[in-house]
Amino acid sequence: MNNSDLLKIANEFGSPLYVYDSEKIVSQYNRLTSAFKNVKQLKLNYAVKALSNVAVLKLMNSLGSGLDTVSVQEVQLGLMAGFKPEDIIFTPNGVSLEEIEEVAALGVQINIDNLSILEQFGTRNPNIPVCIRINPHVMAGGNSNISVGHIDSKFGISIHQIPHILRIVENTGMRVNGIHMHTGSDILDVEVFLYASEILFETAKNFEKLEFMDFGSGFKVPYKEGDIETNVEELGKKLTKRFNSFCKEIGRDLTLAFEPGKFLVSDAGYFLANVNVVKQTTSTVFASIDSGFNHLIRPMLYNSYHRIYNLSNPTGKERFYSVVGYICETDTFGSNRRINEISEGDILCFKNAGAYCFSMASNYNSRFRPAEVLWHEGKAHLIRKRETFNDLINNLVEPDIPMFQHKTEPELVKEAK
Ligand SMILES: *Cc1c(COP(=O)(O)O)cnc(C)c1O
Repeated sequence: MNNSDLLKIANEFGSPLYVYDSEKIVSQYNRLTSAFKNVKQLKLNYAVKALSNVAVLKLMNSLGSGLDTVSVQEVQLGLMAGFKPEDIIFTPNGVSLEEIEEVAALGVQINIDNLSILEQFGTRNPNIPVCIRINPHVMAGGNSNISVGHIDSKFGISIHQIPHILRIVENTGMRVNGIHMHTGSDILDVEVFLYASEILFETAKNFEKLEFMDFGSGFKVPYKEGDIETNVEELGKKLTKRFNSFCKEIGRDLTLAFEPGKFLVSDAGYFLANVNVVKQTTSTVFASIDSGFNHLIRPMLYNSYHRIYNLSNPTGKERFYSVVGYICETDTFGSNRRINEISEGDILCFKNAGAYCFSMASNYNSRFRPAEVLWHEGKAHLIRKRETFNDLINNLVEPDIPMFQHKTEPELVKEAK
């Protein structure tokens, strides 16, 4: 898919619009599986929350991927997409026992991340095997919003509480078939990841009936030039060696699992928006697009960087712009960006808009969420319609209070008389 394809897609489907290139998703999937080709049993569970459109889930299913889910609704989307329950893992945080039992009843692998639920779930369902999420207390990356394995993180059961886990397992007679960690969204250093893995290997020795070890995710993808990218090939080589020797040591072949989200879909996504206004101020030139953090919140929420370029004028003279949205808040997508000269009506393209972009979109300012298009084998397929006014008012309920009742115009005229 090239820029002229994108421009055609924008013309056909309108803006703002998300476009996903299936070929890129497939190539990232293959890159990861080939990095771990020497592991006998490898399982990639795509993290649904990154991008949950059912068409994308079906693509993942066709590749042989499993799913990593965090809500019963994501599980339902996965089942809708044709996944077998046993190819789905449920890795929630802070959800109720009822929801966990509902998901377990569907036959989905449960992953538990706190002692309270572990004890209750094991007491009530000793025959359902569970995976346990460990917090190895390793600081991955510097951003505590996306680093979830460190000591203050709410995720996982502390490795210092292993004795308590073992006591619960023994007292309830439950079976632990998997052990899991997810250190955060940034593996910048393969050695740090391997260090955390050692903690998981050490923990794994406590569970005789273990079937799989899940190393979570955290594969970092480059958002701008010069960004560090997780070296998955190096990680593959080193972790495979360690994993295989561990399997030998315990005399059993385990499954090695990962839950990549961003790595599989980030770079496959493009966000297209129309420039409504070009506004020169005393200090900068603003390009205001027909979007805001209601459609793409990562720059405002995480201070993350998305490359922005002008699809409509690719050879225009470069100038500095602040790209902002149309929401009544400060919603800056990028400041001081060097972009080919922008005119009103141009289409801007945001890179790396596959992961945590549409899935975090909202209706703030009572705007519609964008449409989504999948580019597959040279063709654009609409995979989600743009919302309409009806979507905004669908769930409204008129209270049974006279002053809230909607009156027709003739009624109002009659009353006035
Ligand atoms: C969000 C999440 C992932 C995916 O993380 P990425 O950085 O998108 O790869 C994997 N596992 C768990 C438990 C998660 O919560």
